[in-house]
Amino acid sequence: MQRRKFLTSAGAGLAAGAAAIPTLTQAQTAALPTIKWRLASSFPKSLDTIFGAAEVISKRVAAGTGGKFQIQVFAAGEIVPAFSTVDAVQNGTVECTHTAPYYFFGKDPTFAFACAIPFGMNARQQNAWMYHGGGMALMRDFFKDYNIVNFPAGNTGAQMGGWFRKEIKTVADLKGLKFRVGGFAGRVLSKLGVVPQQIPGGDIYPALEKGTIDAAEWVGPYDDEKLGFFKVAKYYYYPGWWEGGPELDLFVNMKQWEALPPEYKSILESACAEANVDMLAKYDSLNPAALKRLAGNGVQLRPFSRDIMNACFKAANEVYEEESAKNPKFKKVYDAWKAFRDDQILWFRVAEQNFDSYMATAGSSSKPTTPAKAAPAKK
Ligand code: CA
Repeated sequence: MQRRKFLTSAGAGLAAGAAAIPTLTQAQTAALPTIKWRLASSFPKSLDTIFGAAEVISKRVAAGTGGKFQIQVFAAGEIVPAFSTVDAVQNGTVECTHTAPYYFFGKDPTFAFACAIPFGMNARQQNAWMYHGGGMALMRDFFKDYNIVNFPAGNTGAQMGGWFRKEIKTVADLKGLKFRVGGFAGRVLSKLGVVPQQIPGGDIYPALEKGTIDAAEWVGPYDDEKLGFFKVAKYYYYPGWWEGGPELDLFVNMKQWEALPPEYKSILESACAEANVDMLAKYDSLNPAALKRLAGNGVQLRPFSRDIMNACFKAANEVYEEESAKNPKFKKVYDAWKAFRDDQILWFRVAEQNFDSYMATAGSSSKPTTPAKAAPAKK
């Protein structure tokens, strides 16, 4: 009875994020094994948002199991380099990694669907696809070949387009640009002459400062301010059309996952769902003040022009067609993903987008004005 109660609350926890994380009683934990895992993060410790999600998972799992299931978190490079964590999980060097799956698009671009592909879905839509739209089943089937079980465990929301030393006014301005850009977007941008660079978060600033690269994108105002990009590039572009709602994942070695008692599996799954909600909430709450501070430091905000967006959109669709023609795994996920995304756009255009657009306009017209300016007193 006790056990059934616990499993019910675990299911509720997955659906409601932070609302109902299960916890074992002392009597329950006494019978369960002590397990110690190592988690290799792809992120630097300085970023409390994106690195912090792994700590959210670790703390929740320890608290929920009376300390019997411990996951020790290591920053990028401490035990595994940022872009090698999938290999480390696949071959069992570590039990799990917290990472951005699109870093591994070089193995197979299909990895990126568990994170973001250019002109993909926003955070809400990505969650809808993974939790209730068939995305989880498709991705779990794909990751089997890498001995990996995947769990959504964080999202940044729509990202910024990055930091540029010079203004990017036309599509031609992209030609020859050495641009640090995450994941699959590099392949799309290279069609337009960009020379994409994959550089881990902690190593971007020195490359931009030295001029090894001309431009760099990371996440958004809060992280980007911490990494200091505004000191060496003043044009801050938006949106990061390659990352409308990138998901971060916990990748667990399949054998290690299968060896867990069902109670630990349930708690770990719920902890990942909590991290998924928590990271997005943290970014959304911290970004506005960071954006104001950056503007106060002389940062120049610039939208990518419609022409640039259109050229990138066209290039992205060409890349997807090319990849689908030669990669059956990619095609299988892409076809289902695209149908889901198109339906999401249809739905979001009706209520969500109209509400957001109205609020954006109403918000900007309701700035406080002094009574004297608003209505000069009559004599
Ligand atoms: Ca990024």
